[in-house]
Amino acid sequence: MVELAANLEAVRAAIAAAAAAAGRRADEITLVAVSKGHPAEAVRAAYALGQRDFGENYVQEWQEKAAQLADLPDLRWHFLGHLQRNKIRHVIGHVALLHAADDMAGIDEMQRTAWSQNLQQDVLLQINLAEEAQKRGCGEEDAELFLDVLLRSPNLHLRGLMTLPPADEEPELTRVWFKRLRALRDRLQVRLRGRPGASTSLWLSMGMSGDFPVAIAEGATHVRVGTAIFGARTPKVR
Ligand SMILES: *Cc1c(COP(=O)(O)O)cnc(C)c1O
Repeated sequence: MVELAANLEAVRAAIAAAAAAAGRRADEITLVAVSKGHPAEAVRAAYALGQRDFGENYVQEWQEKAAQLADLPDLRWHFLGHLQRNKIRHVIGHVALLHAADDMAGIDEMQRTAWSQNLQQDVLLQINLAEEAQKRGCGEEDAELFLDVLLRSPNLHLRGLMTLPPADEEPELTRVWFKRLRALRDRLQVRLRGRPGASTSLWLSMGMSGDFPVAIAEGATHVRVGTAIFGARTPKVR
């Protein structure tokens, strides 16, 4: 508990410092506390310290925690990473933001699910910048195609881009990927001008425990920070 408070304080201070150094306001940046692998009590403790946005990766784990924390009405859940097709109906319309839409069939299924239940869902498009085989998301050159599909999905609302760049021990080495996501966002935004229903300021979800200050310097609007807040996770057995 003491540690959680100190960690959260340190992450907030680092966000404020990185924002100030970049000439940005700290309140332009949403800290998503990634609570996967940690119990509902840890989320409740962070909530008591003023944290409101939490990220989860596994549907069942998230559902259990959400049920235990249902008394915290202004808590916002973010679903991170790939959403299996058979789990889509459990998540769509029930989280504040889905990071990320990552394949055509999945987007199609999300739209149909949201439509059939008359639900709306804010989504981020995941971009696989380095086109790593083990990672999800569309390549940079397919981004416009995905954008068009999302804009034609009336129950899904494209709010921005998300990326999970190649991991590196040295945070400075991830800067190049953050720059590329931002440049892609800027190009897509130009294309979006005048399109009905399109958001004209797309968010950038990038940066994790090891490199979030660098991501903020490069324009991140959402940083997804787990370990630096909650400590190490026990490896997930699935
Ligand atoms: C787990 C996870 C994070 C948080 O990673 P940390 O290194 O613990 O900060 C961020 N984004 C995604 C997509 C994740 O799966």
